[in-house]
Amino acid sequence: MAKKRRNRGRKLSGAGHQKTVQCYQCNKVIPADKAVKVTRRYSVLDSSLARELRKQGTFISTRKETKYYCVSCAVYLGIVKVRSREERKVRVPLQVGVRKVKQGPPPRIKL
Ligand SMILES: [Zn+2]
Repeated sequence: MAKKRRNRGRKLSGAGHQKTVQCYQCNKVIPADKAVKVTRRYSVLDSSLARELRKQGTFISTRKETKYYCVSCAVYLGIVKVRSREERKVRVPLQVGVRKVKQGPPPRIKL
């Protein structure tokens, strides 16, 4: 049988069965090892107000929230992307909440 992924899209690692979780988006029941787990920190305040207060030295607490998504919802929300056959072989951790350094436009060369 054709094999799309070496782990069949799961993280079982020898275990026969995993407990189930519910998708945060569509409430579908999925095995925990197959679900896309996203942990983010949420602040009660909006970002601009929090930034202003942080400048003045205020400690603002955040709460950690873990959400599980089924694969189709994770693709729909842009958490994971559909990858080509070669790209699928590259094992990379989930990049959620990792801030990318913004790169400005390339410098103009005066002629
Ligand atoms: Zn879902």
